[in-house]
Amino acid sequence: MPLVTSKELLQQAQAERYAVGAFNANNMECVKAVIEAAEEERAPVILQVSQGAIRYAGLGMATTMVQTVAQEASVPVVLHLDHGTSFLQNVQCLHAGFTSLMYDGAAEPLEKNIEISAKIAEIAHAVGLPVEAELGKIPKIEDYVDGERANELRHRPPAEQVEILRETAGPQVEALMADASQAATFVEKTGIDSLAAAVGSIHGMWADIWPLRRDRIEALVKATSLPLVCHGSSGVVRTRADAKAKGIELRPDECTLEEAVQIGICKVNVATAVSMAFLRGAREAWDERPAEKDLRKVLLPGLQAAKELVRGYMRLFGSSGRIAGAGRGETSEVKHAE
Ligand SMILES: [Zn+2]
Repeated sequence: MPLVTSKELLQQAQAERYAVGAFNANNMECVKAVIEAAEEERAPVILQVSQGAIRYAGLGMATTMVQTVAQEASVPVVLHLDHGTSFLQNVQCLHAGFTSLMYDGAAEPLEKNIEISAKIAEIAHAVGLPVEAELGKIPKIEDYVDGERANELRHRPPAEQVEILRETAGPQVEALMADASQAATFVEKTGIDSLAAAVGSIHGMWADIWPLRRDRIEALVKATSLPLVCHGSSGVVRTRADAKAKGIELRPDECTLEEAVQIGICKVNVATAVSMAFLRGAREAWDERPAEKDLRKVLLPGLQAAKELVRGYMRLFGSSGRIAGAGRGETSEVKHAE
């Protein structure tokens, strides 16, 4: 079916209290993994193009990949710009055929962020496209932990990792969180359609162990009626049971990803976890058959691992089963080298 806008999907998700998963279109295999999971789960889905994907695949390639799979898909698909850097880039993506835009003005002073977000919303709305904008700043793990330290940390028990991160990153992450008292004004002045608010998550985490801030999400839900977007969700602990199994103690003002969706998060961005699942699947396949010559036989297990991860998130978000009908039953396969 043709691409749909994120406004259509997020309004329904908000009304029915579930969240739509937003996964990154980094290569053909990941795009197919996401779509196959969405079709099998009968879930609406957002494929988003990050700044890294634009540099890696090129805007044209990334756009065409998503447009092609969406056209063939039996579930609604959105093509979304992730962390758009400027007014001009948003115009380029609008022109390229995106059905959802984003401006990330977190590095700008608030007034400038409002000014540019409003300008983008004005032109996007003229052609019926919705816009997401960022309030507060969602940091990345590299801001606090370098690669060497991360490699050392990830081998410790999850609870210990969380405690260390609470000390090293906690206060700074808190200082960057969205101020609910600014949210109503931000939404009113910009005219945006969904709000990427910093609620405690960190981009690029290597494991799902970190809590979100329940009190911040609740305050934002009260302050604005817009669908809220959670970025950096790969690092967020998924459920209470998961936290317990990992020995992670949540504080009273914290919550899991599952709880955040129940409170009011309507779009959940997951990038790093999909990438890591893909790499794990491909590495295992190559380890098993180090003499393999056919790259598809190594990449396909990566695709399948990414697909299963995406499926798990769709079920967690409650987006599975929202679309009537059956999938096409076509899955990627490699029979023999051709
Ligand atoms: Zn993000």
